[in-house]
Amino acid sequence: MTEVCSLSPRKAEYVKYLYLHEGLAKTTRIATHFGVSPSTITKTLEEMASNGLIAHVPYKGARLTMKGEECARFILRRHRILALMLSRCGLGPEEACRQATVFEGHVPRYVIDRMCASLGHPVMSVCGPIEHDSCCCPQDCDMESLQRTKI
Ligand SMILES: [Zn+2]
Ligand SMILES: [Zn+2]
Repeated sequence: MTEVCSLSPRKAEYVKYLYLHEGLAKTTRIATHFGVSPSTITKTLEEMASNGLIAHVPYKGARLTMKGEECARFILRRHRILALMLSRCGLGPEEACRQATVFEGHVPRYVIDRMCASLGHPVMSVCGPIEHDSCCCPQDCDMESLQRTKI
């Protein structure tokens, strides 16, 4: 499986932001949210657009492409898997969530896939549900029964 989402920690945060703020996000709003200048954010968004992750509409803003959304789902799974690991190590839910954010951007996908499998593909973390894909779940994995256990 190719690495569909090996982004710098900062770009990963942008992808997560766009995913959680569905629709077209204004460049100025993204800049304010992350405390960077509009010219910096424009440059980064252009790079992400050339990677096919976002559609950048000049003077209007940015939204995720299908590839970008797939990437965002991985980034959320990564965060939630790591937060869950930390909570199992004894951290409280909020602290686990916060501490995962500190280093999650540096953990590659294959490590997350291994963790996900070793945890038995958990469906709920301390800060939200965990979605699984064919990367963390081998082909013979019964995705449907995994989804059913969510209920
Ligand atoms: Zn969290
Ligand atoms: Zn999984």
